[in-house]
Amino acid sequence: MPDGILPAKRTLRSVEDMIQSGLASESARVALSQVAARYAIAIPPALRALITTPDDPIGLQFIPHAAELITAPHESADPIADEALSPVPGIVHRYPDRALLKPLLACPVYCRFCFRREQVGPDGGLLTDAELTAAYAYLQSHKEIKEVIITGGDPLILSPRRLAEILHNLSAIPHIEVLRIHTRVPVADPALITNALLTALDIEKPLFIAAHINHAAELTPAASAALRKLQRLGIPILGQTVLLAGVNDSEEALGDLFRAMLRARIKPYYLHQLDAAPGTARFHVPPERGREILANLRGKISGTALPTYIFDRPGGLGKIPL
Ligand SMILES: *Cc1c(COP(=O)(O)O)cnc(C)c1O
Ligand code: SF4
Repeated sequence: MPDGILPAKRTLRSVEDMIQSGLASESARVALSQVAARYAIAIPPALRALITTPDDPIGLQFIPHAAELITAPHESADPIADEALSPVPGIVHRYPDRALLKPLLACPVYCRFCFRREQVGPDGGLLTDAELTAAYAYLQSHKEIKEVIITGGDPLILSPRRLAEILHNLSAIPHIEVLRIHTRVPVADPALITNALLTALDIEKPLFIAAHINHAAELTPAASAALRKLQRLGIPILGQTVLLAGVNDSEEALGDLFRAMLRARIKPYYLHQLDAAPGTARFHVPPERGREILANLRGKISGTALPTYIFDRPGGLGKIPL
């Protein structure tokens, strides 16, 4: 680790933390304070430990940057129209047979490219009991819904008691056949996968977990061990990756990541084209380049390691393979 970059024992949450820990320079203070006024910051110790320089593949994903203040003409606060497709708070219902449930909008880490960056944050979006009840009633009354995807924010930072209650209530709806959780916790804070959390996740209905992982370095021994505990409950783990300039936009980086996922028994599921959230243009990779990388990987790595390259069209039109 270079001079001036110190390991962190706690989650770094402020511009002051960034400067103190050597992740940002004093001269960036004013611009970064403006960024911090708009977008949440959190870098937990497990990810902090992987940053050697601020512009390496891990640093780029999580360290705030002055470029976030510039919104490009095509960027939107709600790039995939979650809000427009929300019949009751916390529910997004775009595809007939699947609905999203967002019980909270806090995360263990805040990704600088997040497509829900205008919504997520440490003190936002915890559904009240009444809102949860209304969400269950909506799901109950829509018999076409076969799968509920619990997302956010990050559902695995809920208390095990709260999570168990949600899983229990969803399980009680007969037409819901499958549950899925989208999370960053196994890589961001593997210590959160406690026995109490595992007990909450040990349910009768099929439960899948989609883990958001963008670089092979994120799959540390601790992250893999946390994922293994989930797999031992019979929970299949899917890998979700966002294609990001400077992070993973090369044959080598994605090949390494997908192979690391297979070693951790994770099926690479989606490679997402970046959504046009405000201030994220520095991460943009042209779709032609994404296609070229995947085409070059085909034949070089196992077919089971290749995800579907997917784009969520603006305006709520839904996902299409690229
Ligand atoms: C992405 C998404 C889903 C899940 O889509 P899959 O292709 O099944 O992973 C469901 N609902 C909404 C609103 C989504 O954006
Ligand atoms: S963990 Fe997911 S929801 Fe949270 S900031 Fe990162 S991309 Fe956004």
